[in-house]
Amino acid sequence: MNIILLGPPGAGKGTQSDHLRDAYGLTKLATGDMLREAVAAGTELGKKAKDIMAAGGLVSDDIMIGIIREAIRSASKSGFILDGFPRTVPQAEALDAMLKEEGKALNHVIELKVDDEALVARISGRFSCAKCGAGYHDHFKQPKVAGVCDACGHTEFTRRADDKAETVAKRLEAYHAQTAPIIPYYKAKGALTTLDGMADIGQVTQAIDALVS
Ligand code: AMP
Repeated sequence: MNIILLGPPGAGKGTQSDHLRDAYGLTKLATGDMLREAVAAGTELGKKAKDIMAAGGLVSDDIMIGIIREAIRSASKSGFILDGFPRTVPQAEALDAMLKEEGKALNHVIELKVDDEALVARISGRFSCAKCGAGYHDHFKQPKVAGVCDACGHTEFTRRADDKAETVAKRLEAYHAQTAPIIPYYKAKGALTTLDGMADIGQVTQAIDALVS
């Protein structure tokens, strides 16, 4: 089963793709995570991506298509979830071509729809475990024991550099200008399901399960 999760930053793609990975044994391919790892490791890719990400812009299609081609080849036999790719129409077209080459198909394209105002509130409070990456939020999801990661017990947390209010505004701008046009692209193929991403995390998970299982 191969799934794309679409939606603006803060829509819940990361949380729901973690669920899909754990519940169905799919490989999670999150391009933002891959880029952050490259930045942290100081690789050539990281050097190219760092300033663009910090400014809330999009890394070039050529670079992103190259990364995802490799990642799809090494995905588990059960399939993959794409979180953060495609983000432009050329990326969506390149994905179609590479899936065809690999003899793979997309089973679901799921859009999580959320109002811009809610996104700003969601993004500005989020933080994650510095060790395992488990996600938390100042208002919506604190660790069960304050200062201790529920998943791994680690006690250090990080906040994304691009989750600052001014960068979030740029990321939303990039979403509306460059990513939203892929929604009609998938709608025209009859592949798109739009879910209410304003609902509780658990309700969104249930709606996704009902769709894919
Ligand atoms: P994310 O974690 O998905 O919010 O991605 C963080 C940042 O990584 C984005 O704001 C972009 O700068 C960059 N990025 C991630 N995926 C892509 C992509 N498919 N195309 C272009 N830039 C991307």
